[in-house]
Amino acid sequence: MYAVELNHVDKSYDNKQLVVNDVNVTIEPGEFFVLVGPSGCGKSTLLRIIAGLEELSAGSLLIDGKRADHLPPSKRELSMVFQNYALYPHMTVADNITFGLDVKKIRKKQRKEKCDEIAEMLGLTDFLKRKPRHLSGGQRQRVALARAIITNSPICLMDEPLSNLDAKLRAFMRAEIKELQRKLGMTLIYVTHDQIEAMTMGDRIMVLNEGAIQQIGRPIDVYNTP
Ligand code: ADP
Ligand code: ADP
Repeated sequence: MYAVELNHVDKSYDNKQLVVNDVNVTIEPGEFFVLVGPSGCGKSTLLRIIAGLEELSAGSLLIDGKRADHLPPSKRELSMVFQNYALYPHMTVADNITFGLDVKKIRKKQRKEKCDEIAEMLGLTDFLKRKPRHLSGGQRQRVALARAIITNSPICLMDEPLSNLDAKLRAFMRAEIKELQRKLGMTLIYVTHDQIEAMTMGDRIMVLNEGAIQQIGRPIDVYNTP
């Protein structure tokens, strides 16, 4: 069974031109799947369709083998990390991290245990009581990661999670995310316009151009063709 399956998916905003055009792809459980392509080619739209934040205009979407086109985002077993991290400024790091568990009505003691475990894993233990504005960019990025993985969702979607970091931190976080993904065995669908990220992190890369699949394959196949 596939983690995610897109069949002939089209998307247009306001019935204008297609920004996603007949996309067919299957993503394996535990796969690190990277979506690349120029700005405006439809990467975010495709990710948001999988997340349930946008409706598809035609075609179908399956998550874990089940039709998901009309499931609300909260009913899809997935988590998401946004480019701007989307942290709650008035909440502490701990409350930001456990937000997804509060929604699921998990008990306080268990919530704290999970939070401590994940904070430890991501080097956030000393920052749990702070507000996001008192963190560096890299620390904020890790809070967003922690918030996504604490829910134990088998599928995680990331939309350019490293693009606000400086080059050195980006290199470090590339390795960290890859390691985390392997350790947790999660399916990761990762949007980037950074070729180095795509090459070093992805099991498979899908290149989109004007909403259509231009190429799909292992990094070595995608980047070694003339
Ligand atoms: P990418 O993530 O590859 O930069 P997007 O998915 O954000 O591409 O955008 C694909 C196309 O759809 C672009 O032409 C963009 O302007 C358009 N688009 C994205 N979101 C909307 C929206 N909410 N309403 C109308 N057009 C949109
Ligand atoms: P990205 O970094 O993915 O390219 P953008 O900066 O293009 O994102 O878009 C940011 C937000 O604006 C998204 O929520 C997207 O859906 C929306 N958006 C993008 N293009 C348009 C558009 N032409 N009309 C309306 N909303 C848009």
